[in-house]
Amino acid sequence: MSVVDRQDWDVVVVGAGGAGLRAAIEARERGARTAVICKSLFGKAHTVMAEGGIAAAMGNVNSGDNWEVHFRDTMRGGKFLNQWRMAELHANEAPDRVWELETWGALFDRTKDGRISQRNFGGHEYPRLAHVGDRTGLELIRTLQQKIVSLQQEDFRETGDYESRLKVFQECTVTRVLKDGDKVSGVFGYERESGRFFVLEAPAVVIATGGIGKSFKVTSNSWEYTGDGHALALLAGAPLLNMEFVQFHPTGMVWPPSVKGILVTESVRGDGGVLRNSEGKRFMFDYIPDVFKEKYAQSEEEGDRWYEDPDHNRRPPELLPRDEVARAINSEVKAGRGSPHGGVFLDVSTRMPAEVIRRRLPSMYHQFKELADVDITAEAMEVGPTCHYVMGGIAVESDTAAARGVPGLFAAGEVAGGMHGSNRLGGNSLSDLLVFGRRAGWHAAEYAAGLTDTRPPVDEDQIDTAAAEALRPFSAEGPAPGADDGRPPENPYTLHQELQQAMNDLVGIIRREGEMERALEKLADLRVRARRAGVEGHRQFNPGWHLSLDLRNMLLVSECVARAALERTESRGGHTREDHPAMDRKWRNVNLLCALTDPTGGLLATDPVSGQITLTREITEPIRADLLALFEKEELVKYLAEEELYE
Ligand code: FAD
Repeated sequence: MSVVDRQDWDVVVVGAGGAGLRAAIEARERGARTAVICKSLFGKAHTVMAEGGIAAAMGNVNSGDNWEVHFRDTMRGGKFLNQWRMAELHANEAPDRVWELETWGALFDRTKDGRISQRNFGGHEYPRLAHVGDRTGLELIRTLQQKIVSLQQEDFRETGDYESRLKVFQECTVTRVLKDGDKVSGVFGYERESGRFFVLEAPAVVIATGGIGKSFKVTSNSWEYTGDGHALALLAGAPLLNMEFVQFHPTGMVWPPSVKGILVTESVRGDGGVLRNSEGKRFMFDYIPDVFKEKYAQSEEEGDRWYEDPDHNRRPPELLPRDEVARAINSEVKAGRGSPHGGVFLDVSTRMPAEVIRRRLPSMYHQFKELADVDITAEAMEVGPTCHYVMGGIAVESDTAAARGVPGLFAAGEVAGGMHGSNRLGGNSLSDLLVFGRRAGWHAAEYAAGLTDTRPPVDEDQIDTAAAEALRPFSAEGPAPGADDGRPPENPYTLHQELQQAMNDLVGIIRREGEMERALEKLADLRVRARRAGVEGHRQFNPGWHLSLDLRNMLLVSECVARAALERTESRGGHTREDHPAMDRKWRNVNLLCALTDPTGGLLATDPVSGQITLTREITEPIRADLLALFEKEELVKYLAEEELYE
């Protein structure tokens, strides 16, 4: 076995998006020697793609805003299934995290009087998204990278080595978290370019690997989103929470086919864009659910007045939370009132002067011009739902970001569950990354510091097992389990396409019992075939090999999504059951946990035929009374179960 690089660190952060970088900065600033590992080039993480902005109740544009209002909006958006303590910490700390970014060199757009500008977004009562045009994620990552470089320069001045306390391993993929008993002892991975294996020994590992979108056919997500962190946690023995909640963003491009799914930012609607069907009707007025009736405009005139006078008018229903808008678009298309390519129309051209569109939405202008030959200053865009974000994720302790059940494992960012409940509000991810990235780095550093004399050792057998697992695609015709019958190996790309199609068609935006059962059967078939996923050639930059390894992760998380979706017999947020169309108050306080059972105590292997995901229900902790007091009783009655109200 050829482990070429073996190093010792205090904290290893897997992922260099917003959450990973913020965690790494915090861990290093608290004295931990910290390594950051990322699959792509440093600075290329998914966070770069974030467009609309960071939600933080700074009250710059409307002084009525404060953390309590933000907390309320977040809980409403998540249909009260949010881990409320996370929502509280998030609303409270997000403004500080945005200010901090400015002190590190970020430059946000300004209001006329020089404050950080904030824009409207769906589900947010006030303009709340601090932004840099529609390229906010790029500025966020640029700033965090710059901060890392400045810390490395500090370290160089002290130690003569830039990487003595903070080192980035780019284009490296982690395939296993290693453990000593129940405790984390490090990670195993491979360098994408050379194919060589490495082990980083560390008592604390922060998982910050983002989402799972590449398990679905139509998605706004980049190639990195193969659910690696979710699977790493499962395989290490940590449970995933509420994986049924997958956000389908209402507005992805639908045409041409090569760009289907690419995101059309919500800022388009926040800045005045409207949705129309093929009859020219602003159909969202027909889709305001009861729980939101009092908060949204009932006529186009009122909705339009809101942009100028938000204090005396209600917001237009195009700015309902994403789950509502996505379902409405789906219904219009299904009813035969869609656009020529199976979406609906999103129009800014009749709502703003061309020069304002080009200034406020530069990326959208170029995206449509270059990819679809559509000039959004002169004609409407065609848009439809696209798999965008996963609310489910690693179950964590709210304050510390510690993964449940595995000492030394932490998680932050999109890979962590709980914060957003059943549906995330736009802009709440970037703030989540900073708030909980910082907390994860802080507590990982503290945990590691507390273990200095008794670090869990790395088990050599686990390294051998991880290496053999990683090499299996090269011997798919050989004696690997399930692959010794002389049949030719499976093509990983074919398996991936079949998986994406199944998840899109059978566990997509609208779900039905029979279809989800079919999905589970299909996943079982794919799991067996994936053990035969074979590749030719060698380990130097071999994308087929990388995909073969990613397939394990996508299949695991897809099984979690399908099993949890089948179990939850109601519709809530990013989980819509055609056979159970209403939100059911009895499910309000129920979490679904997915776990792998570990009969051996060593590295977990999954059973390809039956899967090894077990699902358990858990009653959530009651929402603290002072937080409940922020809502009107009439509103709580719509969400909370009888006994919760009584209490
Ligand atoms: P990421 O930024 O995706 O970083 C994940 C990191 O993990 C990467 O470095 C990756 O290389 C690494 N990684 C993954 N697997 C492995 C592995 N096995 N080994 C090693 N490294 C690994 N949210 C908002 O709040 N506001 C917005 O305006 C907004 N706009 C968006 C626009 C688009 C087009 C999209 C797709 C999303 C948008 N979001 C927005 C959502 C938000 O961007 C993401 O939820 C967020 O960036 C996730 O950040 P993260 O740090 O959790 O993960």
